[in-house]
Amino acid sequence: MALLEIKKAGDPVLKKICAPVEKIDKRLRKLLDDMAETMYASEGVGIAAPQVGKSIRVCVVDVDKKNRYDMINPVITYREGSQVGEEGCLSCPDLFGDVERAAKIRVEYISRFNKKKTLEAEGLLGRCIQHELDHLDGQLFIDVAKNITKGRKEKNGGQE
Ligand SMILES: [Zn+2]
Repeated sequence: MALLEIKKAGDPVLKKICAPVEKIDKRLRKLLDDMAETMYASEGVGIAAPQVGKSIRVCVVDVDKKNRYDMINPVITYREGSQVGEEGCLSCPDLFGDVERAAKIRVEYISRFNKKKTLEAEGLLGRCIQHELDHLDGQLFIDVAKNITKGRKEKNGGQE
């Protein structure tokens, strides 16, 4: 595995709409492993492919260091309610802000071994997935957040 360079806000790759993955192979699985290693090394809870310079619809999420989700071509198929919570982003170092997200979601994606998966998520996991999927559409949380500050206001949560 290898640590990848994290692209920072201002890099045009973060503004692009990512292309769907067409082939799931060893190379893609290595990218997923490298993304995960980069995320853990940066104390992140999620990372999307454009954050490491790849404009494809792939993200890795792990909010409790127990359940890692490698998501290929993820799509949110159901949303319920709304909640406002603090977010940060590995591509926007030291910035935090409040973002309104759906309280509960259902996401469909392809696993690293080419299996169709469905996951229902709420709380930090649901928030993180919504944050990562925004990355795949070229949107950063600072585009939509309110009350952006330098430094974290709350102790929980993580950088995505
Ligand atoms: Zn992010």
